[in-house]
Amino acid sequence: MNQELFKTDEIASAITRIIDESQKYCFIVTPYYNVWDQLAKSLAKAAQQQKKLVFFIRYEVDYVEGGINYKRIKVLIDYGFDVVYVKNLHAKLYMNEKEILVTSLNMYDKSVRANFELGINIRGRSEYFKKNFIENELLGAKEYYGQNGQEECYRIVEGRYFAEKREREEEEKKKEEERLQAEMKRKEERAQLLSERNSKLENNENKGFCIRCGTVIPLDSTRPFCLDCYKKWASWGNYDWQEKFCHVCGKEFNNISMRKPCCSQHLKSQNKPSYF
Ligand SMILES: [Zn+2]
Ligand SMILES: [Zn+2]
Repeated sequence: MNQELFKTDEIASAITRIIDESQKYCFIVTPYYNVWDQLAKSLAKAAQQQKKLVFFIRYEVDYVEGGINYKRIKVLIDYGFDVVYVKNLHAKLYMNEKEILVTSLNMYDKSVRANFELGINIRGRSEYFKKNFIENELLGAKEYYGQNGQEECYRIVEGRYFAEKREREEEEKKKEEERLQAEMKRKEERAQLLSERNSKLENNENKGFCIRCGTVIPLDSTRPFCLDCYKKWASWGNYDWQEKFCHVCGKEFNNISMRKPCCSQHLKSQNKPSYF
């Protein structure tokens, strides 16, 4: 059984445990928020350890900047935690990458002291909850940055978690752009050499084509691959594996291989590799 039932007095300690044991993330979904003593210590410790706590608070004027309860939220922001204001938020959920607590309890001191509350914890389902509830449901709606429409649903005050996520995404985007640019350059280079070959073969006689991908490389029929394709070829080492392009003219043929890297017209013009 990987589920446990918690009564009011046990829920608070389960929340503390979820915060303390979190590593990659800790999502705290609590419409209303007012810290209690023990929890305040736990949060201070988590801030000191640079933990990534993300608070989902109900969007209420009292809680946003200028509101009478904003000072409560300000503490979280100053700790480097992320705060997401969500309209109409009513769910309560506390989770890290190992454990999920679904409960009726707000992270609210009065509720801990005075209410009958109920909680149940679930282990081993964090990725599912993260994807389907946090990302698709809470963050799946439209952000309300600078909007006047009725669709606005949440607003993020960025802390460690979202900053890291954003930086990671920007990094990936940059890499992808660089990859696309390099690919475009290779294609242009290839197209240029192809057209030169078609007009006058003597030009660029020190340049050839990778027999697998067609990239422009130094002309050497004993080394007819670009580095990437060579690595792939070398993991099998099959001299007769069918490749695509003539090393000299760059045109497509269906009888090209490491053993015979040029079309029949250009095979003669090349020094025969030693393995011939
Ligand atoms: Zn290649
Ligand atoms: Zn050729």
